[in-house]
Amino acid sequence: MIKVQRYHDISMGHRVVGHENKCRHLHGHNYRIHFTCTADELDELGRVIDFGVIKEKLCLWLEDNWDHRMMIWEQDPLRNALEELANDDIVLVPFNPIAENMAIHLVEVIGPQQLASTGVRLIEVTIDETRKCSASYSK
Ligand SMILES: [Zn+2]
Repeated sequence: MIKVQRYHDISMGHRVVGHENKCRHLHGHNYRIHFTCTADELDELGRVIDFGVIKEKLCLWLEDNWDHRMMIWEQDPLRNALEELANDDIVLVPFNPIAENMAIHLVEVIGPQQLASTGVRLIEVTIDETRKCSASYSK
């Protein structure tokens, strides 16, 4: 199988509900998000997809939707208070915002939505939360 990869860096806040340590606080990370794509057929040049299309469809989606925002779980007990204070800054998500769940969401929901017209599939995402810690999901 031929795969192509591209990463993108964003800064984002989050808070992990139920975390037993520091991640229960409002805080942020400089995330590096790695996308891995494949296709059933290569194009006439032998490519899975032009790297610029990954940028346009996936990296810019991160810029528009997650970068410099605060990711909050829909069921976070602080949700209403945070929305009252800074509604425009909040990205509400249907999962507790740990790196594993972010990777699953990107592969299962955002990839199919953003790449629908391209014939290319997002098959793996790795989220580097720090330089030392990452989570990957692939299908
Ligand atoms: Zn964190």
